[in-house]
Amino acid sequence: MPAPATVLVFLDPAFEGGRVADASKPQLMATDLGATRGDGVFESLLAVGGRPRKIQAHLTRLAGSARLLELDIPAEDAWRRAVETAIGEYRRQDPAVTAAGGTDDDEVVVKLLVTRGPEGAAAPTCWVQASAPGAAGRRQRETGIDVILLDRGYDSEVGERAPWLLLGAKTLSYAVNMAALRYAHEHGADDVIFTSADGRVLEGPTSTVLLAHLETTDDGAGGVRTIRRLITPQLDSGILPGTSQGALFTAAKAAGWELGYGPLEPKDLLDADAVWLISSIRLLAPVNHIDGQEIGTPELRRQLTAELNALFATIE
Ligand code: PLP
Repeated sequence: MPAPATVLVFLDPAFEGGRVADASKPQLMATDLGATRGDGVFESLLAVGGRPRKIQAHLTRLAGSARLLELDIPAEDAWRRAVETAIGEYRRQDPAVTAAGGTDDDEVVVKLLVTRGPEGAAAPTCWVQASAPGAAGRRQRETGIDVILLDRGYDSEVGERAPWLLLGAKTLSYAVNMAALRYAHEHGADDVIFTSADGRVLEGPTSTVLLAHLETTDDGAGGVRTIRRLITPQLDSGILPGTSQGALFTAAKAAGWELGYGPLEPKDLLDADAVWLISSIRLLAPVNHIDGQEIGTPELRRQLTAELNALFATIE
């Protein structure tokens, strides 16, 4: 069955739920600074069964990114309505949803996009896009991924020292991130973990790094207990704060996991019981190998991934 066509909904004060536009026709000016300079911000989120997941966290991060770029974007309500319109329009064309007995776990990729608009524009151009998820992401949740470490060339404190690098913003300038992914593919890997010039673990080009560390200790009553720690790199090391990592940490804490925030070095990844790249669309992708070295064991990766997936599924 062909996937439904991509849906576009422009935020436009003249249209209550946003203005639906034809994605097969040109919609942006060729002079738009988003196109000519990558000058803009965005968010990507997953809608499952028609419900956008972690929408508030994405709206909050979008507002933060926009602030860093001094872009004056519409209020959250307008975004929420446009997201609802886009998901509704997309699902109306989706045979998996409309067929008798249709499922309620269909997935839609929703992007919230902002460009500075054409040179001299009074306001940014803002729209929501709804489209089909790629097959590769779904597959990688199941099969796991092989990753290589790549130097990002900055030290882990540059974000503080050079705020104009916009390291904490989700900007449209993803050419570097995409180049790193192509480099990984050319070298037989699926994905990348960036390291800093001072040897810290940072993030993936489109994901946050997580690791699990299990420690068995005396329970004080003659038995043993296992302490389970979930660790991510320090949020102030020039990385994008992940909404998936944030939500998973909250759920994991409630389920008895201990939480930790770096600093992490490559050795910590290689010594971990499991490592994942986590993001809103692909969700948890277990890392099988880093630079050719196996992480944990297949059984441990499977068990821990199943446990964290179950926790992640409880997140709204
Ligand atoms: N880090 C980078 C650079 C990203 O591009 C992304 C998502 O695209 C993430 C982390 C993960 O963020 P989230 O979990 O909010 O999708």
